[in-house]
Amino acid sequence: MSGLEEIGLEPRASAPAALLEVEDLKTHYPVRRGVTERLMRRPRRLVHAVDGISFSLARGEMVALVGESGCGKTTTAQTILRMVDPTSGAIRLNGTDTTRLSQRRLRPLRRRLQMIYQDPYESLDPRFRVRQTIEEPMLVHGIGGSRKERHDRTLEALERVELSPAELYVDRYPHELSGGQRQRVAIATSLVLDPDLLLADEPVSMLDVSVRAGVLSLLDGLRRDGNMGILMITHDLSTAAHFADRIAVMYLGRIVEHGPAKEVVRDPRHPYTRALLSVVPKRDPRDRSSPQILKGETPNPIDVPSGCRFHPRCPIAEERCTREDPRLRRPPATGDGHEVACLLA
Ligand code: SF4
Repeated sequence: MSGLEEIGLEPRASAPAALLEVEDLKTHYPVRRGVTERLMRRPRRLVHAVDGISFSLARGEMVALVGESGCGKTTTAQTILRMVDPTSGAIRLNGTDTTRLSQRRLRPLRRRLQMIYQDPYESLDPRFRVRQTIEEPMLVHGIGGSRKERHDRTLEALERVELSPAELYVDRYPHELSGGQRQRVAIATSLVLDPDLLLADEPVSMLDVSVRAGVLSLLDGLRRDGNMGILMITHDLSTAAHFADRIAVMYLGRIVEHGPAKEVVRDPRHPYTRALLSVVPKRDPRDRSSPQILKGETPNPIDVPSGCRFHPRCPIAEERCTREDPRLRRPPATGDGHEVACLLA
């Protein structure tokens, strides 16, 4: 039974292929006003954390949201999970808009949306053995009728994340595991709930370089075998290029380039994507291209620049870029699904 059926909602009759559809999503936070601002009745200002993004994700697919810190990628994931409420727009899971569901009706659905956090050291309770950690969400969601069934599911989940033989790990505490093993336990804790969608927020950035590829390969295998979608949030374009099917590059709350991962990396059309790619370490020692350092800092999302929001840092900006706000569109001579928000692309 899908999460929607559990909460009494039928999937749309003509259910789309997409597992997740995000449409013109905006998440704005009000800024707290000081005493002076309140006395002077200054209008409340807003942080435009997510400012009108659209993308979709199918079962078995991995989409990477890429960008610098503060670009809005984590807020996007939190909004999809409804940890924060969207200001406007739609988030459709299996065709049903979850932005309209009350927290009570969302509860059964949460099981289908699972988050993998950046820091496995913090996401596991140090007082819990692996067995208790993995069984807890089953108890919360009423899965696994008996202790034996929960035990079997726990062992199965550990085997799926390649902690094998599972009996070797099930009674360990987090401090008895390596960083990579802890992240695998965190993934197993999500898998026992049989999710439709995993949101992986920088899932390897806190791990040793030597174990990162193993954890990413595991996620890659799970989405292929498990028929679930993965939204990976990362600042690392090279990781995204290697594992994701599609890449969406975010800047200041908007997607500025989106398309098949290989094409975005081989033929980037947005100056911001080009700058991000230029600082990725080169594998070929003969490649002498120099990194492109962008001028200035990312603007404050309270005061979003007029026109193209990238224009204060763009190396090829023209006068009209300060006036016209470019929308995503397919540039000439690009493949299907490749879109760029740049007037000069
Ligand atoms: Fe740069 Fe102008 Fe393109 Fe924006 S629209 S990315 S400022 S060239």
